[in-house]
Amino acid sequence: MNNDILNTPIEFLKGVGPNRAKLIKEELKISNFKDLLFQFPYRYIDKTKYHKISEIDTISSEIQLIGEIKELKEVGIGSKKRLVGSFSDKTGTIQLVWFKTNKWLIESIKLNKTYILFGKINDFKGTKSIPHPELEVYNKDNLSRRTSLFGVYPSTENLNKKGVTNRVFTKLIEELLIKINNDIEENLPKYIIDKYKLMDRRKSIICVHKPRSSSELSLAIYRLKFEEIFYLQIRLLKKNILRKERIKGYPFSKIGDKFENFYDNQLKFDLTNAQKRVIKEIRKDLGSGAQMNRLLQGDVGSGKTIVAFMSALIAIGNGFQACIMTPTEILSYQHYNKFKEFCNILNINVKTLTGSSKASYKKEIKESLKRGEIDLLIGTHALIYDNVEFKNLGLAIIDEQHKFGVAQRSKLWHKNKLPPHILIMTATPIPRTLAMSVYGDLDMSVIDELPPGRKYINTIHQTHNQRLKLIDFLKNEIKKGRQAYVVYPLIKESEKLDFKDLMDGYESFSRDFPMPKYQISIVHGKMNNEDKEYEMQRFIENKTQILVSTTVIEVGVDIPNATVMIIESAERFGLSQLHQLRGRVGRGQHKSYCFLITGHKKTKESKIRMETMVNTNDGFIIAEKDLELRGPGNIMGTQQSGEMPLRVTNLISDTKLILKVRKLVEKILSKDVNLENINNSLILKTLRNNIQKKDIWEYIS
Ligand code: ADP
Ligand code: MG
Repeated sequence: MNNDILNTPIEFLKGVGPNRAKLIKEELKISNFKDLLFQFPYRYIDKTKYHKISEIDTISSEIQLIGEIKELKEVGIGSKKRLVGSFSDKTGTIQLVWFKTNKWLIESIKLNKTYILFGKINDFKGTKSIPHPELEVYNKDNLSRRTSLFGVYPSTENLNKKGVTNRVFTKLIEELLIKINNDIEENLPKYIIDKYKLMDRRKSIICVHKPRSSSELSLAIYRLKFEEIFYLQIRLLKKNILRKERIKGYPFSKIGDKFENFYDNQLKFDLTNAQKRVIKEIRKDLGSGAQMNRLLQGDVGSGKTIVAFMSALIAIGNGFQACIMTPTEILSYQHYNKFKEFCNILNINVKTLTGSSKASYKKEIKESLKRGEIDLLIGTHALIYDNVEFKNLGLAIIDEQHKFGVAQRSKLWHKNKLPPHILIMTATPIPRTLAMSVYGDLDMSVIDELPPGRKYINTIHQTHNQRLKLIDFLKNEIKKGRQAYVVYPLIKESEKLDFKDLMDGYESFSRDFPMPKYQISIVHGKMNNEDKEYEMQRFIENKTQILVSTTVIEVGVDIPNATVMIIESAERFGLSQLHQLRGRVGRGQHKSYCFLITGHKKTKESKIRMETMVNTNDGFIIAEKDLELRGPGNIMGTQQSGEMPLRVTNLISDTKLILKVRKLVEKILSKDVNLENINNSLILKTLRNNIQKKDIWEYIS
């Protein structure tokens, strides 16, 4: 593409000028011709259809009328001042309203002249009007421009108010297309265009703005999606392959006696097939001589911990140190307590290190770590701060990675001469295609199978009014020997109020479940570590039947005897958080339940969240819904990466295409990773031309 012309600031386009350019830049982040060209309509409307005013009741969205303005007057004063008109055709009259009025606007509207009007009906307590209608003089030109697929561009209220309506925007695009008609160049090699029967690039871009038919439009969109996915995937995969070539890792030549001993003698259950497959994948990476960067995905409760532990055993068996970093102290201690017996038998020195470890203890740990006496260190962020140094860290495992920022993750990288192998584990499933696009330069393993005997968790959504029934239910579960969690939201902004909710809740449960028959634990962020540990331990040992807590137990906590999860103010949690919390139950052989307690008032979105939770247990489906509700920019740890660089592709509905293009890219790169083949020279050129500083792949390390 001819970059010179495309980099021209939009103020040089006819109809823009400095003021509009500034406005458009502020509102839409469009600053040059290229940005404008790639601002595609987000939907299309049929402008060949005209309505009658008498039909207004039957029309729900946009309306197009032909008629005359009979009256125009300013009403109200000050900031309430607005312009009101009446628009009539042969069948009736409707009111028009402009909430900002000025001389220019009033003068531009002529009475008793025939207009084509386009707008949206507003219904205010039965009185219908059309706010800020688009008006065009009824003439041949304006009529002929109307097509059945008329693009509607993304806009903002401010743009509309200041006169940059969709009609104006459409005209700007038309100007632009005339101006750069010959500057849109192909960027995919001919062999790909031919093989996948793609529309050429120039035609596709023009067509998306001004489609002549819906079949042509879908071909154009297909082509643009193809290109978008292609270049995203080629960057990510290229990076992945080159990294493997360039970044050496410690080769762990053997599986080692620790792993073998554990697998043969200590492992209490059979691994699921998915766990076996994933361990094989990790084992292969660790032996390859290249540094491993692997993302392990698996739904809550799918058994990732044991995979992590066994991977650490490989590292230790090869004479290296390993560490596991967890997002909470509770989780660090849980892992530690689970592994310490095994470690004892296997002659492995395992220790913990967290923020609240005592200074003297910290010092001791750090020294023996440096001397190489500690084989396995489990801890929180403390692992990457405070000058923690390993003698020879061979494998770093990050549990529940979505709780860590990218920067924290990459810190672990720089602990050694050679970077350690990295295994990132996440329990919040990311839809496959999103993972491919966000973490596309990491290798991925998926545990897509739950350990045998797991039962569906019944999820019930109810309001506070039904509390009595809930108490009865809970008493019955406790009678059967089971335990329950009660979780309260704790969100920074209103910490005090939240804390009060938590304490009130604790008191009210204490009344309903009186001592000594019942025991209740409480855990929250304000407690010191020892008290937290103590309370958790009482619950783990089934000395208390109910654990009231904040979301400190959100991730990882594993107590199979707990069968009831009660989430208070559930509307305040996001979907993935709810799924995580629910994942604390249903971890054993007993039937489990999750109660989502909300008030009566709910936003539309929180209703959808509750429904989704009630309808499914499947983390992957929930992740897709979450993606749909919040957009990819907000999903797990991608916040730092800014916008996803995808304009036309939909990560959910375009899964098939993404997989297809990914395959193609894999094939191309497997033969020609540096894109030196003459057939691929166009790809190389495009990559070089489009290096954008802030694209997502730069942030993932
Ligand atoms: P998560 O993937 O959420 O981290 P965990 O690793 O905590 O899940 O495992 C959940 C529970 O399942 C643990 O109690 C663990 O001991 C148990 N578990 C893991 N793998 C298996 C298996 N193959 N068979 C039976 N139980 C298993
Ligand atoms: Mg876990």
